Amino acid sequence: MGRRRSRAQYCKGELIEREDFSEDLAAFKFRVDKQLPFIPGQYATIGFQVGEKIVQRPYSIVSSPHEPFMEVFVELVPEGATTPLFWELKLGDSVFIRDRLVGKFVLDTESGMTRHVMAGTVTGAAPYISIARTQKIEQEQGKASPHQILTIVGASYSWELGYYMDELNELAAQEEWFTFVPTVSRPWGDPEWQGESGRAEDVIRKYGDHLGYDHTNAVVYACGHPQMIENSKAIWARARFPEERIKEEKFFVMKEE
Ligand SMILES: Cc1cc2nc3c(=O)[nH]c(=O)nc-3n(C[C@H](O)[C@H](O)[C@H](O)COP(=O)(O)OP(=O)(O)OC[C@H]3O[C@@H](n4cnc5c(N)ncnc54)[C@H](O)[C@@H]3O)c2cc1C
Repeated sequence: MGRRRSRAQYCKGELIEREDFSEDLAAFKFRVDKQLPFIPGQYATIGFQVGEKIVQRPYSIVSSPHEPFMEVFVELVPEGATTPLFWELKLGDSVFIRDRLVGKFVLDTESGMTRHVMAGTVTGAAPYISIARTQKIEQEQGKASPHQILTIVGASYSWELGYYMDELNELAAQEEWFTFVPTVSRPWGDPEWQGESGRAEDVIRKYGDHLGYDHTNAVVYACGHPQMIENSKAIWARARFPEERIKEEKFFVMKEE
């Protein structure tokens, strides 16, 4: 007899903090009733009771395993099955969290490369924030790391990154191993914005080349919007990055035209 797949087990996550960055982007922090081990970059499967069923989707974890809460950064898909339920959550409400946190989109510590270019679109910054927070916390605990990280996050407008903009800018100002490049693709709608403009893929070569992160010494990562991932992969392939050092995490599949 074949092995039976074990039934999904869930923990309870109680909403302890919520910050809305815009009408359709928000950060949610949950207190989870069980300690769930994970590697920075992995995702949680979060569910909501709808009638008899649990409707669930994967969400990359923003928080570090060293933090006492689970944080996610979510974009509202108005016609979606799950995200409108996130938007109904009030402090003290609960969600279901599958008790296995999984995923392969983690810092590559096996290739021997110590430079990492991490490109994302808005919520696609989530795994990178977890990786960077963890390296910072572990460094404070005395654990040295050889890894140098360049994080490039594209958004339509700067405010879409909410408090992560300050967090990542501060980290970059404090730590020589961390460089952060936020880039805005609709600068005409964000007149105060003084930083980089364009999409993430428009600037990955510029900053990678400038810092000397290339196919001989770096691993590259793309996370979030599928089109950005395809564009970035093509740029990195032309820059001679081998396939096994181009990592991706697509958050959704583009609808067929
Ligand atoms: C590994 C992994 C990690 C993920 N991490 C995150 C995360 O950190 N934050 C986050 O917000 N989402 C994340 N997602 C996407 C998430 O799992 C859901 O797909 C998304 O939140 C929409 O769920 P929904 O039930 O509301 O919509 P659905 O009912 O599942 O989708 C409705 C339609 O919208 C499309 N769609 C889904 N997401 C988007 C989007 N962002 N923009 C445009 N169209 C979309 C779908 O392809 C589908 O056609 C992740 C996905 C994966 C696979």
